[in-house]
Amino acid sequence: TRPNSAEARDIRYHMHAYTNARKHQETGPLVIEKGDGVYVEDTAGNRYIEAMAGLWSVAVGFSEKRLVNAATKQMSKLPFYHDFGSKAHAPLIDLAEKLVQMAPVPMSKAYFTNSGSEANDTAIKMIWYRSNALGEHARKKIISRTRGYHGVTIASASLTGLPNNHLSFDLPIANILHTSTPHHWRDAQPGESEEQFSTRLAADLENLILAEGPETIAAFIGEPIMGAGGVIVPPAGYWEKIQTVLSKYGILLVADEVICGFGRTGEMFGSQTFNIKPDIIVLSKQISSSYLPISALLINDSVFEPIADESDRIGTFGHGFTGGGHPVAAAVALENIKLIEERDLVGNARKVGAHLQAKLRRLASHPLVGEVRGVGLIAAVELVADKASKAPWGKPAALGTLVNGFLQQNGVISRNMGDAIAFCPPLIITEAQIDTLVDAFERSLDAALPQVHP
Ligand code: PLP
Repeated sequence: TRPNSAEARDIRYHMHAYTNARKHQETGPLVIEKGDGVYVEDTAGNRYIEAMAGLWSVAVGFSEKRLVNAATKQMSKLPFYHDFGSKAHAPLIDLAEKLVQMAPVPMSKAYFTNSGSEANDTAIKMIWYRSNALGEHARKKIISRTRGYHGVTIASASLTGLPNNHLSFDLPIANILHTSTPHHWRDAQPGESEEQFSTRLAADLENLILAEGPETIAAFIGEPIMGAGGVIVPPAGYWEKIQTVLSKYGILLVADEVICGFGRTGEMFGSQTFNIKPDIIVLSKQISSSYLPISALLINDSVFEPIADESDRIGTFGHGFTGGGHPVAAAVALENIKLIEERDLVGNARKVGAHLQAKLRRLASHPLVGEVRGVGLIAAVELVADKASKAPWGKPAALGTLVNGFLQQNGVISRNMGDAIAFCPPLIITEAQIDTLVDAFERSLDAALPQVHP
């Protein structure tokens, strides 16, 4: 590369998120220049289907002019305001009303932040604040799951149950516990049905609660479908059995809908797909198609009312972000939700999602495919070197990385979570585009095969 190329300057000046910083000094970046529908294009003019919708987030595609117009209009009228100290602005009031009205269970209030991590961090603070308000000062522990993903701030990274987010960061912090991943294909005992596996995981959860002391457990948090942990779809009966345990001990439930929310599963919310009845819902990503950063918490009265009492006792709810509920981001989110509704993108996720799931499942007999899983427009294909033992090819993630590299050469940007290749395309994707995507994936599997089984 030329010394002043974008690639060279990236290596010189830019430390990347979620990247091997040393290796990047040799490999350099893939520089994306523009977007068009489900496609993005790099600086060399190569076009890719963005099969991850960016970071599970661009519902309406990469060139939606109505979001651009919503942003410029709001930018000209009121480019910044906030909601500290009872101030408000129209886009945020409209968005709060819209979110509370569309919530899958009765919710009382919306609270705004900038990112999924901040929203989950805020959820923890609200939960602790509420326990204090109720005089339950010992009730501070929060149960998350191994392989769950809830963000990267010190508290939300603690909720996250992936080693990568804890190692060398001295995490998790105290009061955050992890229970098992609901990964039937990988973790079930021989002959154990999905229902039996779910029963066992609910019993594990109850045992953890009893061992810690039920009076110390404040909340449980989970994604309806685990995303970054490898697109893990809960087995039959899982959410019902988990919620039975939580209700028994009066433990709050937080649904992290940051990936599932706004149509991904073929319903507006993942909580509807799995009949989850949360007390707090965390939203981000597809709320604005990530054109601008914004996130939100929806809380019910059992959360809001004690918080209101406590803030009155102390004098203020001492928490808020300068950019939280930014008017331009809020205006974009409103227009984005309008588009999702107008164009029935939830219906599209259900319809073309069924096509994606069926096409991927046809690859189940491929020698490198261990499991195909997913719902609606979120899916993963877990790769193995040996189907019977489910063993990886050499080190975990080696095969995932190899196939993901071929996919990119074949015009598809995806992501491998270990050896699971994820697919989470924009909700506007068509069946024809899905065919192109899955064909490219099949060619990538075939390209990897001779290396795995020479
Ligand atoms: N929660 C879930 C389920 C996520 O997938 C993510 C990000 O991928 C987050 C929270 C964190 O969001 P952010 O990256 O905006 O902080």
